[in-house]
Amino acid sequence: MPDSDAPKGRGRRRRRAVSFMAAAAIVETLAMRLRGFRVGRDVVVRCRDGHLFTTTWLPGGSLKSLRFVWWRFERCPVGRHWSLVTPVRESALSRREKRFALAHHDTWIP
Ligand SMILES: [Zn+2]
Repeated sequence: MPDSDAPKGRGRRRRRAVSFMAAAAIVETLAMRLRGFRVGRDVVVRCRDGHLFTTTWLPGGSLKSLRFVWWRFERCPVGRHWSLVTPVRESALSRREKRFALAHHDTWIP
């Protein structure tokens, strides 16, 4: 049986790819935490024009934006434009800035 190992090998490779992606998501979450950022819903971000808003930031992937580790290219709901956005430490925000950011949430699609 010359081909008996082939499907098993493919399955192993796919499993390895899945566990690599899971590991990458865990590493990204930890790295965000270490830098003082949160991941999940209501993550405060700032666009290139200084607009503050909240977004859903999930590690590993996103459907509505291009990701470059700490940067994302997505639509800013405040200025209604596309921009690079970066997460903001909530401790660095004034209460008014935080309230403004929470009042401006982009779409709920991660
Ligand atoms: Zn903006």
